[in-house]
Amino acid sequence: MSADCLFCKIIAGEVPSTEVYSDDAVYAFRDINPQARVHVLVVPREHHEDAEALAGDPGLLSSVLKAGAEVARVEGVRESGFRFVFNTGDDACRTVFHAHLHVLGGEQLAGFGR
Ligand code: 5GP
Ligand code: ZN
Repeated sequence: MSADCLFCKIIAGEVPSTEVYSDDAVYAFRDINPQARVHVLVVPREHHEDAEALAGDPGLLSSVLKAGAEVARVEGVRESGFRFVFNTGDDACRTVFHAHLHVLGGEQLAGFGR
């Protein structure tokens, strides 16, 4: 737990959130400012600053990705399609420094250059 980390506080229940999925390694909750009909954040319970740091623990990274797929299933978008996003750095508008996977779907998302 990192004392001044928003997502560590959400995992600890100190900041309220709407749970979508939970297991020993991972917690998933609805984004407060959804960018699509389905917008869920999947976070490892252990604090890692970003996706690159998370990749240093391949088992945990795999747990995050599997949880993301489970979120897509329970949210009913596994068949229609969904997007996994890790924002990194200023150009990507990353704002929270606890690694998190965005799961986006439930509507037609904009393509890259299409
Ligand atoms: P980033 O831009 O760092 O990749 O994503 C951070 C995400 O966290 C944003 O989509 C933002 O809406 C979401 N967020 C920020 N503060 C809170 C909060 O207090 N609760 C929830 N549920 N989501 C938050
Ligand atoms: Zn944290």
